[in-house]
Amino acid sequence: MASSRDDLVRKMARLMQSGAVMLEQTCPICGSPLFRLPNGDIVCPIHGKVRIVGSEEEASLVEAEGVLKELVAYSAKSIKRLISSGSGPEDIGRWLYVMEKALEVADKIKAESTPASQSGRAQRKPRGKAGS
Ligand SMILES: [Zn+2]
Repeated sequence: MASSRDDLVRKMARLMQSGAVMLEQTCPICGSPLFRLPNGDIVCPIHGKVRIVGSEEEASLVEAEGVLKELVAYSAKSIKRLISSGSGPEDIGRWLYVMEKALEVADKIKAESTPASQSGRAQRKPRGKAGS
């Protein structure tokens, strides 16, 4: 019985040989123990690099971030297509707007999902308006 468990153990062993440290946290997908690599990355022996989420709320934020990233990528693709098809600035502007909004929301999400433990010295960047 060459189980996948053997495979997992072997992968974990290899990670530890490379200096990775086993963590208390487990992979949100498969439940395997996670490892921290010497370079700081958190990896699952099976899924590779993962992002640890502290709560369900945070998990949904991470998911939203992913959707927004896709949206930005899709907008960029659409703009590229419009440019090559000779479309006017109005059509392109519409996609630019979508892209800008997505980035804006992604920014907000990132600010939300920043662990509170790091807010020891809160650095609030003044949101200066680029006046015109
Ligand atoms: Zn996993």
